Order: sequence, then structure tokens, then C-alpha cells
Amino acid sequence: MMTDFRYLEAAVKQLPFIDVFQTTAGPKVDLQSLLRKHRVRRLGFETNHVSYQRYLQLKGYISEKRLKPRPDIIERLRMIKGPEEIAAIRKAIRLNEKGFKYIRKLLKPGVTEREIALELDTFLMASGGEKLAFEPIIAFGSGSAVPHHHTGRRKLRERDMVLIDWGVCVDGYSSDLTRTLLSHSMTVKEKTIYSIVLEAQKKAINMIKPGVPLAGIDSTARDHITKHGYGEAFGHSLGHGLGLNVHELPGVTLRSKMRCRKGMVITIEPGIYIPGWGGVRIEDDVLVNAGGCEVLSHLPKRAEAY
Ligand code: ZN
Ligand code: ZN
Repeated sequence: MMTDFRYLEAAVKQLPFIDVFQTTAGPKVDLQSLLRKHRVRRLGFETNHVSYQRYLQLKGYISEKRLKPRPDIIERLRMIKGPEEIAAIRKAIRLNEKGFKYIRKLLKPGVTEREIALELDTFLMASGGEKLAFEPIIAFGSGSAVPHHHTGRRKLRERDMVLIDWGVCVDGYSSDLTRTLLSHSMTVKEKTIYSIVLEAQKKAINMIKPGVPLAGIDSTARDHITKHGYGEAFGHSLGHGLGLNVHELPGVTLRSKMRCRKGMVITIEPGIYIPGWGGVRIEDDVLVNAGGCEVLSHLPKRAEAY
């Protein structure tokens, strides 16, 4: 780890397992002296995180043919969580659940999406959260049909469904959950779509265990939704890895070539989105363990109005 004096103390403290090197002479001289000292012949760089500008700089420090692109080298290590990491994720989920219980009581006609977002933020920060894992999505009515809805000034109305996708960081680790609450009219269409999404999520979760291809988990949920005629209304992948970042490896997608491994933490979040009407998404965080999996989040999932 190379860093300057501003971050040195924090780096030494937080990275007891890594040699920390204080930069003094500028990146070129410092990097070249480190490369010589450790007789580095090939230098890997993370293609997903090194900008083109940074790459041009690196090329000035070490010959291009010794620079080796290594996509995801750290993220692959991060896929399998250790006990302390799992403990931190559990804490982040517990706090996230408390946040939901708190804002549920505030969902009354007339309240705006932003007011709910602000209340959620304040509650989570005051209750031990480090920061939000991402800008929460608070979507009322037809806004819930937009998977990445931008929380706005819309007021809650009696006939609105409510979709909330929120996460918080504790000890550096994220949680990420989604719940959809039905309108007070609880129409047949709302209940039907909700139960299709919930059933798709259950089927996917039930098959999670070490060795199972992630693509197969996505297709199980997707097939269920497609069978009921809403395949086109489920336009995103089923889930993603969760850890230091809210989106990390492995992707739970049709294109994934990976299999479940013990210690992975993934989200399972099927959805059905109907433009102009609304959307339902249900998202939980799941730990792959030796015998199968453990759903780490416990908020109720039966179809309910807010
Ligand atoms: Zn989410
Ligand atoms: Zn997610």
C-alpha cells in the first residue's frame, strides 16, 4: 500500500496484514524504487478501477509489456466473506431493518418521497450507521415502475403502492433490501403481481447452495415470472454480491459463469415493473453456507398495505 502522510496512520492501523509505504519523492520515483526493491517483473492493474489517464501514467513508470491487465483481482478475493465480514453485514442488515420499521409508521397520505428518504437517513445515522450504502429509492405509485427511480417530491396518495430500496453501512459493510407495500385498495392485480414476485424469490432462494451455477438461480426466478406472462417486465438481473461495496462480485445473472461458494453474500431481488402502473420488487440478502444458505434479512414479506 502506497500512500502519503495524510493517510499513513489510518492505513497502518486498518491494514495490519499489508506493508504500508509512505510516498515522499512522487509516484514515479517511489513506484520505481518499490518495483526494484521487490524485483517486480510484471505489474498487474485492475482494469475496472484504473482510469485511462492513470494507465498512461503507469506506462511512463514501467514498460507497457510488463503491465498486465487483471480485472477483478481484488473483487474475486472479496467474494468469499470471512466471519468478521459476515458479522458486519449482519449488523448492517439489522440496522437496515430497524430503519424500515421506523419509516413505515411515517407512510401517511401527503408525505413526500424525499421526506421519507430524509427521515430514513437521519434515523440510520443516529442509530449507528456509518453512511448510507447508496441513495435510497423511495418510490410512490407509478414511480415504483422505474427500477432506479429518483426519489422526488411526489406526495403519497391512497391508491399508491410504495417501493423502498435502501441500505446502510456498518463497520465498512453494506446491506441492501427492498420491500414493496401495496396500496390501501389492494387490487387483485397488485396482489397477483406481488405473489408472482415473492414466489420467484422463494424458488431462487430455495436452490442456493455451494456448487449451484448463479445463472441457474437467475433463470429459475426469471422462468417463474415469464411463465406468468411478465418476463418482459423483469428487465434486470436477479441479484449481486454484497460487501464493502453494495454491488460487487458475483453477479447473479444469466451471463454469470460462476457457481455459489460458501461465504458468498448475494442479494436476490426479482421484480415486475409495469410502466404507468407501478412495480413490485422484493430484495433480501443471502449467505451461502456449507449446507445451503441463510437468508440474513427477516423483515416480513406477506402482501401488506402501508
Ligand atoms: Zn437494493
Ligand atoms: Zn440490490
